[in-house]
Amino acid sequence: MKLDAMENPYTLPPELAREMASRVAAVAVNRYPDPTARRLQSRVREAMAIPDSLDVMLGNGSDELLQIVSLALAKRDAVVLSLEPSFVMYRMSAIAAGMRYVGVALRADFSLDEGALMRAIAQHQPALTWIAYPNNPTGNLFPREAVLRAIDAAPGLVVVDEAYYPFSNGATLLDEIGRHPNLLLVRTVSKLGLAGLRLGVAIGAPEWMQELEKLRMPYNVNVLTAAAADLVLEHRDVLLEQTQRIVAERSRLEAALDRMPAERFPSAANFILVRVPDAPAAFEGLKQRGILIKTLHGSHPLLANCLRLTVGTADENAKLIEALASVLSHA
Ligand code: PMP
Repeated sequence: MKLDAMENPYTLPPELAREMASRVAAVAVNRYPDPTARRLQSRVREAMAIPDSLDVMLGNGSDELLQIVSLALAKRDAVVLSLEPSFVMYRMSAIAAGMRYVGVALRADFSLDEGALMRAIAQHQPALTWIAYPNNPTGNLFPREAVLRAIDAAPGLVVVDEAYYPFSNGATLLDEIGRHPNLLLVRTVSKLGLAGLRLGVAIGAPEWMQELEKLRMPYNVNVLTAAAADLVLEHRDVLLEQTQRIVAERSRLEAALDRMPAERFPSAANFILVRVPDAPAAFEGLKQRGILIKTLHGSHPLLANCLRLTVGTADENAKLIEALASVLSHA
């Protein structure tokens, strides 16, 4: 049982999977993709309700888009700023691009320390700031107004990463891009249920997006991904229904965790962060019971004894609850 990577645990309904197979079979794989992926772009625009005033860039997963943004702003001594703990690729892509990385610690309960963020922005004048909204690996959603104040204070680009948007009860800064020209949004279809296709979406003002476009490889979204994603996004009600089930299961899992000797943190994502008395032992205990989760112990001082549990199917979650209760009672 795999509950370590924030995947949607449900597969596609058989009829949709069959239709995908026939669409994919009809694709001319001998031809290069449309370099602008026009058809998929308009499907993504429709599915994500992206206004015509904004430009869209598709990536080979949002990971590729993070790398493109970092490369676009890479200058020696330019600072990349991010909160910690957050998604590790922000730091890794900054370092790979030869930039200076500054991490601003969250509070011990993983809430945003707005004062610390504002001071770091004033002191380091970052060319690039990353904010995951909701945050990974903590699962929480920072206050919208505080994020907007940081965007206004930042001299450079601020990328708000909405990878977990499908689970955030509609929380998004999409409608703020027009008012904050240094704001760029990144989304992905991965958590929605299409992680294997590798398709990410950057959304922003044309002035920024035209610059980023210069660094995108022309065929970064392949023809099979384009055909499959176009079809599934047309039938996105299937995925939206699955994400609603995940959100309902998240509540069930939270209630069960609250009955255990564990500290459970609030989540607006498809995973839950918990602190247990001995995370390495709990990880091993679950693994022996055939359940793979993610231990974050040792990855950041604030994450001591923390585990990240991806919400699975009802059956998987029931097994996880039973196994975790047993593991924690033996600790
Ligand atoms: N952003 C965040 C906050 C993530 O947690 C992840 C995946 N773990 C990604 C981006 C990357 O997603 P993908 O490359 O699959 O689109």
